[in-house]
Amino acid sequence: MRIIQASWIIPLNAAPVESGYLYIEDDGTVIHLNDIAPITDHFEVEVYEGIVCPGFVNTHCHLELSHMTELMPEATGLAKFVSQIPQRRQECTLDPAQSIKHADRKMHDAGIVAVGDISNTTDTVKVKKDSPVKYHSFVELFGLDKDKADILLADGLKIVEEYRSSGLSASLVPHAPYSLSPQLLEGVYSKSKDQLLTIHHQETPSENELFLESKGELADLFERKGFDISSQLGFGKNSAQYSLLPYLPKEQKILLVHNTCSEATDIDQIETHFTHAYWCTCPKANWYIERRLPNYDLWREKNLKITIGTDSLASNDTLSVLEELKLIQKNFSHIPTNELLSWACKNGAEFFGYDELGSFKPGSKPGVVLIENVDGMQLTPGSKVKVLV
Ligand SMILES: [Zn+2]
Repeated sequence: MRIIQASWIIPLNAAPVESGYLYIEDDGTVIHLNDIAPITDHFEVEVYEGIVCPGFVNTHCHLELSHMTELMPEATGLAKFVSQIPQRRQECTLDPAQSIKHADRKMHDAGIVAVGDISNTTDTVKVKKDSPVKYHSFVELFGLDKDKADILLADGLKIVEEYRSSGLSASLVPHAPYSLSPQLLEGVYSKSKDQLLTIHHQETPSENELFLESKGELADLFERKGFDISSQLGFGKNSAQYSLLPYLPKEQKILLVHNTCSEATDIDQIETHFTHAYWCTCPKANWYIERRLPNYDLWREKNLKITIGTDSLASNDTLSVLEELKLIQKNFSHIPTNELLSWACKNGAEFFGYDELGSFKPGSKPGVVLIENVDGMQLTPGSKVKVLV
């Protein structure tokens, strides 16, 4: 058994405990938490300055883009960002397989215990299989050519099967509301009934412009690429009205990623339709690509179930959930760390159905993370992670 004492212990299944004592089995199973000094001197108490919390759940990553670190220019907006990927990829000198392995290790060192990872290929199977981090792979499809929908779907299902036959969980998901033909959307949803779904959602102002006014940078990009989107995308409907609400039942669990440009009416529509909508934010990637952050005050007012993602090293300098929280609190200092940590640990674990992760509930095995260099309960620019369990 280990006894861990810290300035603050934030269990997330109960209120934070000042100068708390966390009792855990040697294998990391939580026994209990209290604020009473142990009477036994059988065990040495490990004393830490800082905040102790459960391991982080990174709900949005693209591990297979890890070799694209420091390649993409910042603040271009999403349309330019996406259109530059193929060329920049060719300029890349890093070995993809090594970069994936390195990124996985770095996430583990950053206190991340579980990851929802967007996968377009099977490049990450081996690393995920051998990793101490728990992965769910979202096998992502896109394609606006309706004649190719069947082929894309068959290829996607093959990739899902490869993950599953390696003992990894995986599900088929759409990339974004604007990047699939109705035929492909329908195909993806028909093959992913009762599975975990995710979608990039309202990441850029040009997504809303495309749907509502058929103009803007994304519309221009599609036109340049020769896609006849006007006959497909059902203009005048917003992202959810086009790609989610007509297809999916109320009880479908869905993780909406980014939502940087979601307005109150967009949020209301989705929250009214779905009983299990989760709202993932990747603030550092939003800042990197668009130089903007979501309206977290609105999200909190709407009582959304918020989770944290790091996105990929193509649009972030690190895959660290804590660094995402630091950026949020720097700009929204009134959001308490306790609440941010429930986004970073508990809500993600709940989305994936990982009952053993996300809080210090007795009997669970969530990992134990120390956040050093804090100011009371507030994070500071120097706050960093030390993995205790
Ligand atoms: Zn993404």
